[in-house]
Amino acid sequence: MTSPVYFWNLRASLKAPYQERIRRLLDRTRFAEAVDGGELTAVKLHFGERGVTSHVQPLMIKPIIDFLLKAGAKPFLTDASTLYVGQRGEAVSHSMQAAQHGFDPLLLGAPVIIADGLKGASQEALRVKGGKHIKKAFIAADIAGADLLVSINHAKGHELAGFGGALKNIGMGSASKQGKMQQHVTTGPLVVVDKCAGCGACIAMCASKALSLTESPAAKGKKILLDNNRCIGCGACFLACKHGGLEINWQTDVTAFLERMMEYAAAVLQPRAKPCLHINFVTCVTPDCDCMGFSDACICPDVGILASLDPVAIDQASIDLINKAEPLWPSHLPKGLKAGDDKLHALRPHLPPAFGLDYAEALGLGTRKYELVAL
Ligand code: SF4
Ligand code: SF4
Repeated sequence: MTSPVYFWNLRASLKAPYQERIRRLLDRTRFAEAVDGGELTAVKLHFGERGVTSHVQPLMIKPIIDFLLKAGAKPFLTDASTLYVGQRGEAVSHSMQAAQHGFDPLLLGAPVIIADGLKGASQEALRVKGGKHIKKAFIAADIAGADLLVSINHAKGHELAGFGGALKNIGMGSASKQGKMQQHVTTGPLVVVDKCAGCGACIAMCASKALSLTESPAAKGKKILLDNNRCIGCGACFLACKHGGLEINWQTDVTAFLERMMEYAAAVLQPRAKPCLHINFVTCVTPDCDCMGFSDACICPDVGILASLDPVAIDQASIDLINKAEPLWPSHLPKGLKAGDDKLHALRPHLPPAFGLDYAEALGLGTRKYELVAL
């Protein structure tokens, strides 16, 4: 069984410019048939961290919003807060960052709503069916509660996941702060003893009783102590610490991290009665994600825009198209690569071959077998 992935190679004309091509592309998915009228539709995207220029631009998103409005939906643009310190760590800065990148409701016809509330704690616990790591995933409340879901994804490399597309945007991007932590933490947080103020606020958050205060003669005061045998990596304690006493352990096992991320995508997608629409922009294909605060030189020429109801198929097709394209320099791709060579693994050879898509397939999120249907 294959899934259709509709593909526009960016060729346009006066008679059929960008807006018209996007309309045709989305029509082919037949997503509009899922709209009865008035559904609050989460359009999950990335507004771009400050300093980033390679995220999907508002002008490119406008025809997608127009398509949804015409179908009778009520779209809103959305994302959830980040874990790291940046411009998107809570709703006020995040909304301002979106505005500074031109995501204007009056221009686009859809408001920006940060899905996990003011401080990133507005969440729903959703069950994951068939996962081996996570039973309940913490998803931003306004994505979990939306009637319909559309993901707009910038296909690119990623420093931790290797590839960022639909499943990463949904899995990591829809998670609340606690949910993001749950995906990153496989061995518990790192305690930064120097920064711990000994306030004990994190202890109350830990249902596993993995945290306690202990007298530290060297520091002349109490410091937090983590019992790794009790810690289940839920991430709740990070929300309590205002002093930087608990840090993410970024040296996490990559396969387990990818599997957790796919389980989060499953928590978002499995309960949905109606199909979700996924749109991948294989344009400005940077080596790193749009959280980095800069956009590095692209690793291949712009390839096209894809649309599908199958998030696994569209991500597989995007990876294949990136690898099929001519490599571009000056990017930090290794020299000597040719069209057809695996660019994403050349950047990060330690990543597993399928970037977790095989696990997403096993979770029933879609198939890696696709038929690329050109416009
Ligand atoms: S990650 Fe969860 S289980 Fe581990 S110490 Fe923090 S709150 Fe406790
Ligand atoms: S780790 Fe943070 S929240 Fe926990 S005791 Fe130390 S300062 Fe307080």
